[in-house]
Amino acid sequence: MALHLVIFGRQGAGKGTQSQHLVDAFGVVHVSTGDMLRAAIADETEMGLAAQAIMDDGGLVDDDTMCAIVADRLGAEDVVANGVLLDGFPRTPTQAEKLVDILGDRTIDAAINLEVSIEQVTTRMLDRGRDDDTPEAIEKRLRLYESETRPLLEWFEARDLLVTVDGLGTEAEVFDRIRLSLEARTQVGRVSEAE
Ligand code: AMP
Repeated sequence: MALHLVIFGRQGAGKGTQSQHLVDAFGVVHVSTGDMLRAAIADETEMGLAAQAIMDDGGLVDDDTMCAIVADRLGAEDVVANGVLLDGFPRTPTQAEKLVDILGDRTIDAAINLEVSIEQVTTRMLDRGRDDDTPEAIEKRLRLYESETRPLLEWFEARDLLVTVDGLGTEAEVFDRIRLSLEARTQVGRVSEAE
């Protein structure tokens, strides 16, 4: 059974790590719109060049462009066969509505909200000591996440698709929580065990 999942989490919540576990466990294709845009910039495509200034400025690329990119990717054979883990999309309620259209017969199984408090992610980011992890930059990104993403969590909650998982603990502990929550909803565990 191909799953169609979305993952949300503040920067520093461990979204990248848990995405990899989800790919390994459920065979879904990881589709990160941020990665796709960065690849388009590296390839110097017209779309990439247009997106670059917006991204550098910390803004959002327009919904039409994003929905076109995602529609194209979700129509590809690997996604149709194996399902998807969307990371970075949807970013706005308009994109969420459009995602439903794009998926058509394929339904969203769950939106995973990897919950780590602002205090905890701030500590984690300051500890890893990257150059762009100044207290000011961290605060700006976290503020944007609240304003951008909160309405989307509500959108998924209203459709009974939101699965909030405590992101504190070891990688394995956190993934166990995600897996158990998904299995409870989708019974996918039984399917994959039978394989
Ligand atoms: P991310 O790697 O998901 O943090 O994305 C990096 C940047 O790409 C964001 O700050 C946005 O400028 C842009 N971006 C990625 N996904 C989207 C999206 N779904 N809608 C609009 N802009 C996006």
